[in-house]
Amino acid sequence: MTDAETQSPFALPVGIAVRADGELSRRAHAEPPHPYRSAFARDGARVLHARAFRRLAGKTQVFARLAGDSPSDHFRSRLTHTLEVTQIARTLTRALGLNEELAEALALAHDIGHPPFGHAGEKALDECLRGFGLGFDHNLHALRIVSWFEERYAGFRGLNLTLGVREGIVKHSRDYSAESHPELAEYFLDQFPPLEAQLIDLADEIAYTTADLDDGLDSGILNLAQVREGVALFRGFHDAVLAEYPGAPERLGAYEALKRVLNALVTDLLEEVRRQTAARGAETLEEIRRAPHRVAALSPEMEAARAATKEFLHASLYNSPVMEEAHAHAVEVVRELFAALMDDPGLMPGDDQALIPTEGLARTVADYIAGMTDSYIEQAWRRCGGR
Ligand code: MG
Repeated sequence: MTDAETQSPFALPVGIAVRADGELSRRAHAEPPHPYRSAFARDGARVLHARAFRRLAGKTQVFARLAGDSPSDHFRSRLTHTLEVTQIARTLTRALGLNEELAEALALAHDIGHPPFGHAGEKALDECLRGFGLGFDHNLHALRIVSWFEERYAGFRGLNLTLGVREGIVKHSRDYSAESHPELAEYFLDQFPPLEAQLIDLADEIAYTTADLDDGLDSGILNLAQVREGVALFRGFHDAVLAEYPGAPERLGAYEALKRVLNALVTDLLEEVRRQTAARGAETLEEIRRAPHRVAALSPEMEAARAATKEFLHASLYNSPVMEEAHAHAVEVVRELFAALMDDPGLMPGDDQALIPTEGLARTVADYIAGMTDSYIEQAWRRCGGR
């Protein structure tokens, strides 16, 4: 243990951390233990080396399409967003004395199931499937990717990830009922996931809230006066920065304030998790799993500030006219390509066509589309007659 770990003022009782050698390190296909790497460290590496992980570089989450004609090369892709979430998740779990390697694996995997074109693409794909009594859920799709679509091992399909990583992939951001999802029965659906998984959802929120303000300013869709006016959390830190560095260039002042916003969110989360855990006297993972609600949360005041910031982002950035245009294009491409592939499944690669008898045509088409990058889906759409 390093000095930083032993001295962390936020460290939780050791029994709350997921054990590297416990039940959650079990794999569907038994594998001998590695001589010097934990099961969760190996899972993080398996995700990092997966083809679906590399495709995250070609998927934008907010600035889909716009990135193509924009003067900036600096917008986050899903890959760089994922790395930012990983950094935050490691900071959180290290400070809390939780299983950092499990959190890293979960952070690396958390967006691996996202289709092209960000949330507009996901919504469009979901709507296409609704017509067939199905739906698209990126967490469940991520589970399919790691359990089936990735082929890297001679002995089995998928990455053979541990139970703990698969549970976290499914449950980090929402809970599923056993009635509606009997296929997920092995993932303790009557319990909350371990804190390592609960924290991924908040690390994700913290990462994109601050990054989207940054990219929004960079894109010119947002301006500084507007962010100051609309985001109280930012304004407070920005005022302090202006007092400290009155001559700083505008961009540097904004960066400095955003950095402080991120730090404040992370610190508040650490304090709140520590407070909640102490308040219920929790000392074991079991108590975290069976608590009346998720233990990982921001304080009520910070949660209100975060929610207000998100509302601002929705109104001023995500739903801004220029973004609406990109969303409309995403919907058109996904819908038309989905229809074209339903009409002629022979346009899909043979490996995908082979899944039709077991998965059904609509699910197979959706899986194929979900794996595409933004540029690949544009090409595929044009080949099918899209403009
Ligand atoms: Mg994310």
